[in-house]
Order: sequence, then C-alpha cells, then structure tokens
Amino acid sequence: MKEPFFTIDERIETLCRQAEEQCAGIFRQIDDTADYNARKVLAAFIRNRVSEPMFAGTTGYGYGDIGREALDAVLADIFGCEDALIRHNFVSGTHALTTALFGVLRPGDTIVSLTGRPYDTLEEVVGLRGEGHGSLKEWGVTFKMQELAPDGHIDFDAIPAAVQGARVAYIQRSRGYTLRPSVTVAEIARVVELVKKASPDTIVMVDNCYGEFVERQEPTEVGAELIIGSLIKNPGGGIARTGGYIAGRADLVELCAHRLTAPGVGKEVGCTLGESRNMFIGLFLAPTVVAAAVKTAVLTSAVCQNLGYAVTPRWDEKRTDIIQAITLGDEASLVAFCQGVQKGAPVDAYVTPEPWDMPGYESQVIMAAGAFTMGASIELSADAPIREPYAAWMQGALTYPSGKVGLKLALQSMLEQGALKL
Ligand SMILES: *Cc1c(COP(=O)(O)O)cnc(C)c1O
Repeated sequence: MKEPFFTIDERIETLCRQAEEQCAGIFRQIDDTADYNARKVLAAFIRNRVSEPMFAGTTGYGYGDIGREALDAVLADIFGCEDALIRHNFVSGTHALTTALFGVLRPGDTIVSLTGRPYDTLEEVVGLRGEGHGSLKEWGVTFKMQELAPDGHIDFDAIPAAVQGARVAYIQRSRGYTLRPSVTVAEIARVVELVKKASPDTIVMVDNCYGEFVERQEPTEVGAELIIGSLIKNPGGGIARTGGYIAGRADLVELCAHRLTAPGVGKEVGCTLGESRNMFIGLFLAPTVVAAAVKTAVLTSAVCQNLGYAVTPRWDEKRTDIIQAITLGDEASLVAFCQGVQKGAPVDAYVTPEPWDMPGYESQVIMAAGAFTMGASIELSADAPIREPYAAWMQGALTYPSGKVGLKLALQSMLEQGALKL
C-alpha cells in the first residue's frame, strides 16, 4: 500500500521493511528489557507509596515537599542504591555532573578518567580548557586521563596503577560524540572490581547520560558509587521539562546536595513549583520511551549498514546507550541526512537546518532537532560536525513509528539531493 501521509520512495520503504524483519529478534530483546525495566519502575512507585498529593508543587523554600522526597526515594529504589537527588534545579547534565564533582572532590584530590577525554562540556569543568571560571584545576584538583586501549575499550590492565591515590575514578558510559564503543554495565562491573581491589577508598563515579534503561541494570547495581544523568535524556521520558539526577551512596549524595544548595542546607530545601508530576510521569514512561529510541537506532544501523555505510554500533551489537553513529562520508550526504530527520519532527518540521559556526566548536556543525523540550535528545535528533569522517550522531525518538519516519525522510532527503543511489 502506498504511504498516504509522506512522500517516500518505494525502494526506501522496502529497505526499511526488510531491515525491520532482519531486526525482529533484537526488537524482541529490546521489548523484554523494556518490560523488565517498566516493572522495576512500577514496583518502585508502589513500594514508595506514590500518591496524588505528591504532584502538588511547593514554593519558596519547599520545606517538607513530599513529592521531592518521594522522587528521590523512587529513583534510589530503581537504581538499587541508597539515595538520590533528582531535581529540576539542575539546569543540564553538565550541571549535575559538575555538582557531583565539586560535591565529592576537595583541593589536593586527584580524579582519574578511565575513559580518556571527557564529554566536550566537561572539559572546561575539569580544567582541560578555558580559564578563570573556577574549574576543578583552579580549585587544586588534579584531573588525570587514562587513555582507552587501541580497540576503544577501557584499558583494564592499566586500572590498578592508574587509580592509586585517586579520590575518584571516573567513567563516561556513553560514547558521546566520538566513534569509540560505549561502556557496558558488565564492563563497569569489571572496573569496579579492579578499582576496589587496587584502591578500596577510590570512588567509582559514572557519567550515565544516555545509558539509563538501555540495559536491565544500572552501574549502581554493580557497585558504582555515584551515577549522574540528565532528565532531558532517558530518565525524563520526554516529559520532564528540565533537570538532572545524582544517585548512589548516601554519604556521597549528601555531599552533592550540600553543593547543589549550600553547605549545611543540603537536601531539605528546594521547592518543586509543580515540576514533580512531570518527573514522575517521565520516569514512569522512560523504559518504554528508551525502547523506542533504541529500536530507532537499531533500525537506522541496519538500513545504513545494508546501504554500505559504516555504522557504530552495528545493528546486532550489544547496546548500552541510545546513540547511533552513521559515517556518511561527505558533506552533502551529512547535510541531506540531517535535513531529512528534521522533516519528520513533530515540532519545527518546516525549518531547514544548515551548518553553522557553533561557539566552542572548531568545525561547522549541523543539528536536526524538532523537540517539545528544547535540546531534549531523548526526542529524535541528529548532530554532525562538518569534518572527516562526516559522521552523523543520531539519538532518541519518543515513539518508534515517529523514529522510523525520521529515518525514512532522512534517506528520502539524501535521495532527492542526489546523495544516495539506489
Ligand atoms: C548529554 C551528556 C552530558 C551532559 O550534557 P548536557 O548537554 O549538559 O546535558 C554529559 N555527558 C554525556 C556523555 C552526555 O551525553
């Protein structure tokens, strides 16, 4: 039957249909994981007696806000850890990560990243770039990097020596905007074991952005002591309007709370202004929304791999985050792809993204994003720096049908602009 809503070449329809059949087994696994995680979340809501009065917001100091307290307890329960701090007051993932770093580290301490260079926005936080803004470096904290092994995985053999004397061992779970593999929860478990054996007091901290609910376990369930993430990514379920979280060992979460608010004030203050309801709903939906995003990524990987493009991860590779990188090989293809993704967005679909000089980036960048929440990358989005190897990083989709349309329109756009031969 001819597609009645969008103009999509019949050959693209066929390619997607075939890839979908090819991915059926993987999709079943994704559904199984979503089923498990949705039950995990539901059980935590029930155990912590989530109730309607918790959705009413507080103002001012927000003393005794029962919604805020319950959300912390629910998140800690889901992540199998002692305590959590889930707040709309975190302006971004970077802010939550920064709060955790400054919460736990003191002048004279050392932190070692076991995943090499951290995510772009963290570079200035730790002091790899920029000056005069109060980085960890300026506060007398040493940031060390353990490079990844040649295969892009963590260099496990180097861990015992690397973590000696370090207060924090830091792992970035997701590949971010690189082509290295993401770090699975099983690998994090191995890191924890090695770190604890070599240096029992070293805290294992994980940048968990993009990873939540992709697997059945979170890093805290295998011994990581602090995990941090953004609510406009996976755990916000596309509903949370802003925010982030820090979860893990109670004493460390407490330190972070004193940093988020003020020393001595900690967790007891912070009005919710009515945001808690969105955070509860988003968290409740997150496992199935994440499944939609992962399916969109797997289908994209399969179709693009079948068309001959280099993709990472491959369609049948184990996943631990929602990111899909596609190496399109040249600027015209990259631009056409991102413009096509934009055409399938529920918001701002009529806008045509163009490469631009984004502050802080060396090359031009093109971004496709038509989201209900500004910058939310649990919603379908694609970003690409205009440089070798001309790769696009795609992530998100609140629903699988809309993610699939985004992929088809990306290919259609490439076809129409002569960047794809079928
Ligand atoms: C998104 C992300 C962050 C934080 O980025 P914000 O844009 O500040 O939310 C940090 N690390 C990784 C790996 C991320 O994906």
